[in-house]
Amino acid sequence: MGQRIARNTEVKLMNKIICIANQKGGVGKTTTAINLSASLAAADHKILLIDADSQGNSSSGLGLEKDRYEKANFYHAMIGQISLESVILPTALPNLEVIPSSQDLIGMEVEFVNLENREVRLRSLLKGLNRTYDFIIIDCPPSLGFMTVNALVAADSLIVPLQCEYYAMEGLGYLLNTVKLVKADLNPSLQLGGILLTMFDQRNSLAHRVTEDVRKHLGNRVYQTVIPRNVRLSECPSHGQPIILYDIKSRGAIAYMDLAQEILRGIK
Ligand code: ATP
Ligand code: MG
Repeated sequence: MGQRIARNTEVKLMNKIICIANQKGGVGKTTTAINLSASLAAADHKILLIDADSQGNSSSGLGLEKDRYEKANFYHAMIGQISLESVILPTALPNLEVIPSSQDLIGMEVEFVNLENREVRLRSLLKGLNRTYDFIIIDCPPSLGFMTVNALVAADSLIVPLQCEYYAMEGLGYLLNTVKLVKADLNPSLQLGGILLTMFDQRNSLAHRVTEDVRKHLGNRVYQTVIPRNVRLSECPSHGQPIILYDIKSRGAIAYMDLAQEILRGIK
């Protein structure tokens, strides 16, 4: 705590909530959530990563063992059974804490169906959080359902990972339209932080074409940093480590550290 106060006198507290979403599955949301969080933490920022996906990939990818959070996780806080603070767990990185999730979340959409203001549930919980972070990062499930809408309502900005493949932009219009609706109805301050090109394969000419295409259509809304397809990135979740702990010299680690710097530059 003392260290935190000392540091905050030097570094302006940013307190930004970033949601990582794309209803398309397997595009690199969780890989980005874990590794962006870890890279920002390594750059001396205090980070809370919220695993808002019932698959629990951000939780397992950070090496958390299930029995530590089976009975007390994000779901239990969302339904109001326990406080959000009580489900926060530490990770191997001192600046990175996580709120884990499990399959319990699957039922929540149905359980909340008749509840008033259900879309603002997460925002209310975060407003009441009695700990401070420089960034709160939310890893969303591959859908535009209840959980993603809650994350969009709670967030200041959105990162959309886009895989460098043929159908990359398919569905993007629908996602951006959802953002527009959320902005109009529930969260006027929501910003599109940027589109992040992921799994870029240098040797694949299609990947080059897709990248050019996306940049042509979406221009400055696309991050300069491109995440390469990198075997080390796909290996590290099974070791329960972010890439900067698993192999800091890998191209994947360098790319996510570059992304963290690009985001920090954009905020200053
Ligand atoms: P879901 O929609 O199911 O939540 P996701 O969008 O979170 O998926 P990830 O889980 O991050 O996507 O990635 C999907 C798969 O691709 C995983 O096996 C992951 O390890 C792998 N992967 C992600 N990014 C890269 C990369 N840059 N290089 C190599 N493999 C990657
Ligand atoms: Mg995921």
